[in-house]
Amino acid sequence: MYQEVIARYLQSHGYTFFSLSAVLFDMDGVLFNSMPYHAQAWHLVMERHGLHLSDEEAYLHEGRTGADTINILYNRQFGKKAPQKLIQKIYAEKTAEFHTHPDPEAMPGAALLLRQIKDDKLIRMVVTGSGQKSLLKRLSTAYPRMFNRELMVTAFDVHRGKPHPEPYLKALEKAGLQPNEAIVVENAPLGVRAAVAAGIFTIAVNTGPIDPQLLMDEGANMVFPSMKSLSESWLDLHTAFGEHQIIT
Ligand code: MG
Repeated sequence: MYQEVIARYLQSHGYTFFSLSAVLFDMDGVLFNSMPYHAQAWHLVMERHGLHLSDEEAYLHEGRTGADTINILYNRQFGKKAPQKLIQKIYAEKTAEFHTHPDPEAMPGAALLLRQIKDDKLIRMVVTGSGQKSLLKRLSTAYPRMFNRELMVTAFDVHRGKPHPEPYLKALEKAGLQPNEAIVVENAPLGVRAAVAAGIFTIAVNTGPIDPQLLMDEGANMVFPSMKSLSESWLDLHTAFGEHQIIT
């Protein structure tokens, strides 16, 4: 089944082979179980300002910049652009609310998956819209020796965030890779959209409460219910990619 999905990807992108060298990981909702905190913080702070955003809907906006999320919500309710000052105020409050929570836990299954990928001598990269300063520290504490700063794309590296493909294109550029040399692991519909638009084989992990069909609708090549299940399937999956190194 994996072989068929990979073959379909190659055919639709005009490639004759897959040569897997790198795995590109989104961070929130993939490496850290941080989305419940983000969703709750968004919901609470938006309500404080008379804007309605349920926890569930917050998951659908994951990946957007804070300003874009606020603007979309404001426009939906008031039919005009949000004032710049209000955007800054809401975003500052949301960040403060997020930080009232303890540091998010490492996502169950992620460490084991990374270990396997490292043993397979594949490059590990992080591609996130996050601009949190504590990011590098958290990554190196939770996943020691798995990532290095040169092979990381954060909010500081790009002009346009997800769902624009720029973060993923930037990751390929940083590592000197073609799209058929990498795969992406994403949890959010807009993150999947960005990766797919960059032309990369995209594995969705549905770690939140959303309908998995939403991830398929954005073009995900596969959907797994958790990082743990992806980790358990990794051996078979990696083997399937290996079988597509040469197609005659
Ligand atoms: Mg995410």
